[in-house]
Amino acid sequence: MTEAWKEIEEGAIIKHDIAKSPKTGDWRYMKPQVDKKTCIGCGLCFDHCPEAAIDYDSERKADIDFDVCKGCGVCATVCPQKAIKMGKN
Ligand code: SF4
Ligand code: SF4
Repeated sequence: MTEAWKEIEEGAIIKHDIAKSPKTGDWRYMKPQVDKKTCIGCGLCFDHCPEAAIDYDSERKADIDFDVCKGCGVCATVCPQKAIKMGKN
């Protein structure tokens, strides 16, 4: 089990503006799926998504905007709950 997310320095976190994030075309190969029952709403995936594609839903769980998600898998890697699984798009 990887706990690499604990070693990421705070200054290394990328802050992007979703308004400037380019839309994803039909080329995305992998797609993250959030298990809302397992998500604790910690926000780590929000902070590390390079596309600013994640925000809270109405129940304060992670919600992914697939218009801009590129399928990179960073969110699944940093999630301490393993609440995000990558599957084929
Ligand atoms: S990192 Fe995992 S537990 Fe935290 S908000 Fe994202 S999906 Fe939920
Ligand atoms: S797969 Fe990449 S782009 Fe998509 S939500 Fe996760 S971190 Fe963001």
